[in-house]
Order: sequence, then structure tokens, then C-alpha cells
Amino acid sequence: MAFDPANEIQDLQYFGEFGGVNPSISDSSTYTFLSAKTMFDTFEGNTDGCYLYSRHSTPSNLYLGEALAAMEGTETANVAASGMGAITPVLLQLCKAGDHIVSSRTIYGGTYAFLKNFAPGFNITTSFVDITKLDIVEAAITDQTRVLYCETVSNPLLEVADIEALADLAKKYNLKLVVDNTFSPLSISPVKLGADVVVHSLTKFINGSSDTVGGVVCGTQEFIDALRNVNDGASMLLGPAMDSLRASSVLKNLRTLHIRMKQHSHNAMYLAKKFEADGLKTVYPGLPSHPSHEVFTKMMNTEYGYGGMLTIDVGSLEKANELMELMQERNLGYLAVSLGFYKTLFSAPGTSTSSEIPIEEQQEMGLTDGLIRFSIGLDNDIERTYQSMRNCMVYLGILEAIEETV
Ligand SMILES: *Cc1c(COP(=O)(O)O)cnc(C)c1O
Repeated sequence: MAFDPANEIQDLQYFGEFGGVNPSISDSSTYTFLSAKTMFDTFEGNTDGCYLYSRHSTPSNLYLGEALAAMEGTETANVAASGMGAITPVLLQLCKAGDHIVSSRTIYGGTYAFLKNFAPGFNITTSFVDITKLDIVEAAITDQTRVLYCETVSNPLLEVADIEALADLAKKYNLKLVVDNTFSPLSISPVKLGADVVVHSLTKFINGSSDTVGGVVCGTQEFIDALRNVNDGASMLLGPAMDSLRASSVLKNLRTLHIRMKQHSHNAMYLAKKFEADGLKTVYPGLPSHPSHEVFTKMMNTEYGYGGMLTIDVGSLEKANELMELMQERNLGYLAVSLGFYKTLFSAPGTSTSSEIPIEEQQEMGLTDGLIRFSIGLDNDIERTYQSMRNCMVYLGILEAIEETV
């Protein structure tokens, strides 16, 4: 049977301390040891079944980590206080002074800023490339390269990385392939396609309620142990620990992720088809017109669809801003960054989430002024939503009126 990430989550079984159907929350920062010897062993790294201190791990964080590892098909996982709190320790664990990273140039603005502005202070340098051009990726690899970094579906341009092909390259040059799978949970399982480490911002689809930030690193036991090592582990020493109460609430939301992803994908596909038919420049991996439509299709766990993210280009920043303000006024969603909420969220990436990227580079990568990024919500009646969005576009002269759009 093919790997099904939702089944992997479903098949975990929990018994709380008092038989609760949810695991008990461990509301403690520190843990007692029945013998002093066990405490010593735990510091030495023999932590099996023992808790030390909550920056290292907590029962609640381990439950959530276990579920996310099951979803990604990895041996284990380490949760973090935010997506960036997962990503930056991974890169600092894998790269030391003098090392080099080859990264997709279209990545989350914070990750880009970290690689471009922060990591060079530690003499870790990055070449940013068009990740869809394998020859360019390969040409950027040097003797110092340790990591190949990409997002499965990139933010905000929705470029799709061919994980299998990149994994082959990583193997050939003995690199670690690190994949940020935030935009495509369940739809794509990067480790099953050959990635070494998968990171997520839990803030987005996985938690899905826009009430917290969170992150996770999914990987081998050896790598996660290294991140948590009390002597030289980046997660342990930099300290982006998730709180146990949050871990428990994210775990509860994770259980409906498959239902939500199907609806996000269904709604996004519906709107993408309609927008494209209306003549709007629409980017959605589910559209055959998307340059990486086939790559996505080849990699995907079919039933979860092509995800909830799409972009349209309305020509200018002014028009984009007018449209977003009008759609918010008419209660079609919120003018807000982030993604994965029950309501549609929209923003103009050039002036918001990708503003860390210099204007010239934005232009080079095709991040235009009039681009609006949508995280499509869970609307039950997406046809009604479409009609209302269309009305906004007609009102602003972005689309021409057709006979009846009430
Ligand atoms: C939001 C996001 C991040 C950062 O996550 P935080 O939880 O905000 O720290 C990283 N990668 C992608 C693709 C994101 O969308």
C-alpha cells in the first residue's frame, strides 16, 4: 500500500495519564529523577524515557513530534517555538564556518534574510538559484557545499521543486537536502521522495487556526538527537522551545488537517480555474498551465490536492491594494499575511512577506507589483465566494462585467 500521511497520523493511539483520549499536558519546566545516577546518564545523552528540562523535551512536545514524524514518514521529529525556530537551528547544525548552502531563490522572506544577511556573519554563505533548473543548481555546488535547501512549493511564486531529482543531486555530492514543506502538508511527502530533513512552520496549515506560531524538524533519530544535544545541539542551545500547552493544542488541530487540506485544495482549484478562465494571470500548481504542474502531479499524494495557495496578478500594486481592501470590506477574507486559516487571507508579497528581497531581485524572479497571494479558506460555498470576488474585480475595472454577476 502506498504511504498515506493521514493514515499514519490516524493510527497513533494515545492514552492520557487518567485514560483520557488526549494525552495529559505536562505542565512542568523541570523533572525529578528518582536516582542521581539517572540524571547523570540523561545529561550524557542517554535520555530514553527520561525528561530533563523542558527546553530539551517535554512529553507533550514529544507527542506532537511523534505525530508529525508519522505524517512525514521520518524516524522522529523535534518541535520548535516557530517555523524560523525550526529552520535556523537545522542550518546552523549542518553548516559550520566556511560551509556553503545552495538554496532556492524563491523562499520564505525570513529564511532568505537569515541566509543572505545573518549566516554570512558566521561565514556560512549561500548561492541562491532557480531551483527548477537542475543544471543551474548543480553548477552552484562547490566543495564547501553542505546543504541543498528548498521549499516544496515556494513562497510566494508557487514554484515546485522536483524533490526526487534534487535528492539525486544531493546524494551525488554528499549534501543534505532540507525541504520546507509548509505549503504542502499531506499533499507531498518529501522524505519519501528522498529528502533528508523536512521542516514546517506549524503556524500555517498544520495548526490552521492562526492562533500561534510553531515549527517542526522531521528527520532521523541521529539528526534530531544532534539538534537536542546538551553540549552542541543548535535547538537545545539556541533555545526555541515550544510550550507544552501549545504542543497539545497543535496536536488536536493536526487531527483535522486531512479534512481541511482537501477543502483548501478543492476551493483553491475552483477559484484558480475560474480566475484563469476570466483571463487573469493565475498561478496554481493544479492548473495545467503551471510550469511545474507535472512535477507536482508526479510527486503528490493525490487525494489531498494541489494545496490552498494561489496567486493572481492584477497589473499594479495600486490595483492589488484596492482589490484587497474591497474584498476585506465585503467580508471575503482578511488582508493579512500568513496562511492556512479558515478564512481566505490575502497580501501583496512584494511589499510584505517578501519585502526582505531587494526590488531588483524581486523583478528578476518574477515577483511583480500586482501580485496578490491568496491562502484560500475553507468556505463551504466557494461558488458564492467566486461570484463576490468577481464582483469586486468588475467594480474596480480589473475584469469586465459579463451578463449577470449578482
Ligand atoms: C511562515 C513560514 C515560515 C516561518 O514560520 P514562522 O512560524 O513564522 O516562524 C517558514 N517557511 C514558510 C514557507 C512559511 O510560510
